[in-house]
Amino acid sequence: TARKRFGQNFLTDQGVISSIVGAIAPDNNHVMVEIGPGLGALTEPVADMIDNLTVVELDRDLVKRLQYHPILKDKLTIHQGDALQFDFGQLQQAGKKMKVFGNLPYNISTPLMFHLFEFAEQIETMHFMLQKEVVLRLSASPGTKAYGRLTVMAQYYCQVVPVLEVPPESFTPAPKVDSAVIRLLPFEVKPWPCKDVHVLRHLVTTAFNMRRKTLRNNLKTLLSDEDFVTLQVDSSLRPEQISVPQYVAMANMLCDKKD
Ligand code: SAM
Repeated sequence: TARKRFGQNFLTDQGVISSIVGAIAPDNNHVMVEIGPGLGALTEPVADMIDNLTVVELDRDLVKRLQYHPILKDKLTIHQGDALQFDFGQLQQAGKKMKVFGNLPYNISTPLMFHLFEFAEQIETMHFMLQKEVVLRLSASPGTKAYGRLTVMAQYYCQVVPVLEVPPESFTPAPKVDSAVIRLLPFEVKPWPCKDVHVLRHLVTTAFNMRRKTLRNNLKTLLSDEDFVTLQVDSSLRPEQISVPQYVAMANMLCDKKD
């Protein structure tokens, strides 16, 4: 039976499963990594196409099942543990980037995205099943309600492409929310390079602290009126009206001020 606290909703719709596997495009030229394999709905068809699949699963009982699985056991490298704490960098092999995928536990999906962005340079593609609302946030445009901290950081690191919407009936048990699959393609060369991503993260978090306040108000401890003039950013706007390159420009100015 599924464990609620581990966010377990197992995929059962074969059509959805094959669409996702098609989008992932498993191959032996990448280190293939699945987060939360569960009962193996995606694990089995993916493993079928390649020599080795690395999985990270928190639930010890599910890990045991995978270890004794007649077909999967020879192909899987299993890490039992919390994906939020997991060092994905250790999985990279010489000359091979990772392809990471998973039907994620929805309760940890946002912090997990932030964790994975730290390994973006070692990742070729990511495909995740998420709450539809989170997919809308990842792919949002400035000026919309869904645009926020997650949007800016995701689009700083990656090209973001929604792939597929998935109804609750495709899972057992059915989740209470609609779901969707997202493809994240980390930029090989960042379109808007930032001098220090920690500064960017801090700035973006601070900017969205109070969504209904102006940028000037949220950022008053970090940037002055003259700074905004130099940057040609209208500080009377709300944080959701500011583009990703504008956030990067503000972060780079903060970096310069520190030096
Ligand atoms: N991939 C399976 C499927 O599609 O049917 C299961 C998906 S289920 C939504 C989420 C999976 O992630 C479960 O197997 C759950 O035990 C596992 N999980 C939950 N929290 C986790 C964590 N912090 N780290 C790694 N795996 C986790």
